[in-house]
Amino acid sequence: MTVKQFQAESKRLLDLMVNSIYTHKEIFLRELISNASDAIDKIYYKALSDTSLNFNKENYFIKVVPDKPNRILKMSDTGIGMTKEELEENLGVIAKSGSFAFKKENEIKDGFDIIGQFGVGFYSAFMVSDTVTVISKALGHETAYKWESKGAEGYTIEPWEKDSVGTDIILKFKENTDDENYDEYLEEYRLKSIIKKYSDFIRYPIKLEVREA
Ligand code: ADP
Ligand code: MG
Repeated sequence: MTVKQFQAESKRLLDLMVNSIYTHKEIFLRELISNASDAIDKIYYKALSDTSLNFNKENYFIKVVPDKPNRILKMSDTGIGMTKEELEENLGVIAKSGSFAFKKENEIKDGFDIIGQFGVGFYSAFMVSDTVTVISKALGHETAYKWESKGAEGYTIEPWEKDSVGTDIILKFKENTDDENYDEYLEEYRLKSIIKKYSDFIRYPIKLEVREA
């Protein structure tokens, strides 16, 4: 499968995330939940003008599922999803609100302030993950796609199986080091407190699904 290259500015931001020594890496969860919420908003507003969609609030939620043995955190939303083209455009190019301030900087002078003040959106996942996988099925499309990246080297996209419309984000955490313990983001109490701290205002239910080991 061909590995596609990130646009130059995306690659810079990604490199910054991969090599980040930022101490508040927990904000990756805030960024991904806010994207999930935005995606549900989009399907909601569509439903307002398209009665065939029949928006039922109970069907719209965000799920967070830690898998401790495999060191994977999976986040699912029942939002509008992304087509193949949207996966390419949205995850391969920086042009979005959260990253706009970053884009205007000519030099990365203080990347850490950028992270704190504006958020860096989706790429913050690379502060904690070796591999980020996005499986998405867009509203009104039959085929789902899997986008996957191990960082700045690029990403792959291929058709994938997914029954329902929406997006799954699968984070394979980095190896722990003397300074960083990524396993903390698999702990129920830790996930709960991060969600409470940053995502209390989210209008859709956030379901933390903890399986007994
Ligand atoms: P921002 O949220 O500021 O636009 P992000 O980097 O967080 O920037 O996300 C980039 C884009 O990727 C979003 O604008 C959206 O189009 C798309 N995206 C990210 N996550 C999701 C998701 N869970 N469902 C649908 N689209 C998503
Ligand atoms: Mg965002």
